[in-house]
Amino acid sequence: MSKGNKSPRKSCVRCGECCLGSSPSLHIKDLPLLETGVIPRKALFTVRKGETVWDNISRRVTVADREMIKVREREESGKGCVFYDEAGKACSIYLHRPAQCSAMKCWDPSDFLKVYSSPKLERSHLLSGGALTLIAEHEKRCAYGKLEDLVAQIRDNGEESVREILNMLRFDSDLRPMASEKLAIESSELDFLFGRPLTRTIRKYGLTVIQQSDDSFLLTSSACQQEERG
Ligand code: SF4
Ligand code: SF4
Repeated sequence: MSKGNKSPRKSCVRCGECCLGSSPSLHIKDLPLLETGVIPRKALFTVRKGETVWDNISRRVTVADREMIKVREREESGKGCVFYDEAGKACSIYLHRPAQCSAMKCWDPSDFLKVYSSPKLERSHLLSGGALTLIAEHEKRCAYGKLEDLVAQIRDNGEESVREILNMLRFDSDLRPMASEKLAIESSELDFLFGRPLTRTIRKYGLTVIQQSDDSFLLTSSACQQEERG
């Protein structure tokens, strides 16, 4: 959700611009929406601490200083909330929309900022037992702070850093199907459990992962790949 404080509007005309701009992150006060199934876990993903993200408030790319749970964005356009029904030009869960959405007034950000500063929902509010144990192990092995350090060390440490990054990617990738089976959860919920796959988010560090025919990963710089493709 954009704070959109430059709008000339004085009331909501339900134009959908805010819904098409981005999706909301969730707060503790949104917990009933998950408990009642209005928002299923497959419609969510976790932004992990240290992850590079677009900040709707500062309007710039920043590093998440804490964990956040966000509603997924639409895959076709890569932008906008998954609950926005473009054909009907309306929110498909309007009567039960998250707190950030209820507070959204593109002409006045004060209510939105109040909600934004209220306690955020985290995975530990929604999960327990084995799921939290796996999440803790994943954070230990695949922390974004560690990944950032390794990427920065590639220039000096070369192969050793690349090897460690590949080990991290492999752990992140193998853990997901294993967790799905062990915890009996749908694979569509894995981005909520472990955040988006590192093979995807690593692009933010200027790197691209190529999965080879023997299932191994090859790490390459995104710039090199563009050159090869070009
Ligand atoms: S709050 Fe959102 S839907 Fe309402 S007028 Fe502003 S941009 Fe449009
Ligand atoms: S939940 Fe509804 S109101 Fe909120 S961003 Fe998504 S479509 Fe818009």
